[in-house]
Amino acid sequence: MTLNVDDILAPMKETRRKGDNLTLEWRLRQLDAMHLMITEKREDFIHALHKDLGKERTESIYSEILLVELEIKRFKKELRQWMKPKRVSYPGAIFPCVCEVQSVPLSDPCLIISPFNYPVGISLLPAVGSLGGGNPCVLKPSELCPTVSKVFAKMVPLYFDKGAFQVVEGGVDETTALLQHHYGLIHFTGSERVGRIVQSAAAKTLSPTVLELGGKTPTIITEDCPDDMNVVCHRLLGGKLLNAGQTCVAPDFVFCHRSKVDSFCKAAISTIEELFELKEGEKNKTSEFPSIVTENHAERLENMIKEAESKGGEIVYGGSKLCNKSCRYIPPTIVLNPDKDSVMMKEEIFGPVIPVIPFDTDDEAITNIHEIIPGIPLALYVFSKSKERYEYFMSKIPSASAMRNEAILQFVIPDFPFGGLGLSGLGSYQGKQSFDTFTHERTSLYHPCHALFEYGNLRYHPHTGTKGKALIFLIKNMPCVPSFTNKQLVLLSSLIIFLAVRGISSSLVDLASLLEVIASLLRDMSK
Ligand code: NAD
Repeated sequence: MTLNVDDILAPMKETRRKGDNLTLEWRLRQLDAMHLMITEKREDFIHALHKDLGKERTESIYSEILLVELEIKRFKKELRQWMKPKRVSYPGAIFPCVCEVQSVPLSDPCLIISPFNYPVGISLLPAVGSLGGGNPCVLKPSELCPTVSKVFAKMVPLYFDKGAFQVVEGGVDETTALLQHHYGLIHFTGSERVGRIVQSAAAKTLSPTVLELGGKTPTIITEDCPDDMNVVCHRLLGGKLLNAGQTCVAPDFVFCHRSKVDSFCKAAISTIEELFELKEGEKNKTSEFPSIVTENHAERLENMIKEAESKGGEIVYGGSKLCNKSCRYIPPTIVLNPDKDSVMMKEEIFGPVIPVIPFDTDDEAITNIHEIIPGIPLALYVFSKSKERYEYFMSKIPSASAMRNEAILQFVIPDFPFGGLGLSGLGSYQGKQSFDTFTHERTSLYHPCHALFEYGNLRYHPHTGTKGKALIFLIKNMPCVPSFTNKQLVLLSSLIIFLAVRGISSSLVDLASLLEVIASLLRDMSK
């Protein structure tokens, strides 16, 4: 069946035409509906996440559902404030003015295209931003998580009006059809390859895009890394193995100072076995280790490990013999010294494979990391006791985010905008940043219309003689007038009235009309 995108977008355009989406009430209603959906249908989502990705309950709650709940809570608390117009300063030569900036909805409904790895969180977090910003939106979830996609398709119509939020299921064909249309914003999360396809399609309809892409995130264990290697490994591997390594900001590979390699490998093995109840890479029935999304994805990872084995990489833990692609199981696998031309050192791994590369000096690590990363990575993780060393690495290896002695906590810091740079993405979201991403800053200026405020017609033609020179001088040197508070404005206006009454300007202007203008200015400013 061909997708009729016009029919999908029509009720959303109608919402916009009527202006419902401009109001705080409409936005809060959508956020309440979203909250109700994820709380009332929480079990459906948890079940679907288990089916599609083998995620255990608590991981599903904290790494997906709770993030959405917290985002809704934040939007509901702050939205009224964020929506308020903000006064800005203006050149004194046009005093008195009211200059305001207000964040308004984007030009059209938005499109959200989400990936498979956090299929609930990464679908609904941008949807909160879109609806909170006053934009009806269409969600196209990943076809690789069919159970989650079906839950969305079934639940969204129960909680949302078609003029606010709709779901379109499908893969390449459906996304291609959706991309033929103009959107206020296309929020895409996925691979660099598909990101390029989305960006090209968006160019044809002149739709703005946010691209949240992937990459190879370096992790460095320095010579002076914190003493407790057990804690280092819990943080690093807790991050790497979350969702079986299928996380965009997961540490992709580890550069480990040669003096720390043995202690790192030893602590890494005991950490893996403790976290996931594994015995030499074998999973027991109660293990919480998640699945790889599809058999094909598992096969790709198995081949990656096999290649490393055949090219002389030392398997410290796991290995291809333990892979079971029909069960979508790839064991956490530590590969020491993989061949630098192997797939695991060239492509984003996106699985539980941990290449470890020993180094002797910081500069050697930096040079080698630059040879591996194709562009600017989403993150850089440095385990070091020294702030200076961390800053040195930060100055030499650009990244969209960085952490010292931690990994993948980007999403839990509400004031961190989340997004990539260069090949790892374009634009960002989360919290206030989401609101900014999904709105346009509309400017508005009001200048009372009275001859007194023309200042001798200085700005108009003809610019002959000293008048022209005075104009240029004023433009260059006149300071900006700050955004006044209402109290300051009342004081200022009173002063003007006082001067007018004293007759300083009464010969030049009609006092009654001046008072009228000032009164209207005051009314406007105190709104
Ligand atoms: P993907 O690019 O294969 O798919 C993402 C979406 O694009 C899906 O909805 C899919 O249906 C659609 N799609 C696939 N092929 C398409 C095509 N030819 N034309 C139009 N649409 C198409 O990504 P994925 O495999 O689902 O997710 C993994 C990737 O996403 C990794 O690279 C990962 O790093 C990245 N990612 C990034 C972030 C981030 O926030 N930066 C978060 C999660 C995942």
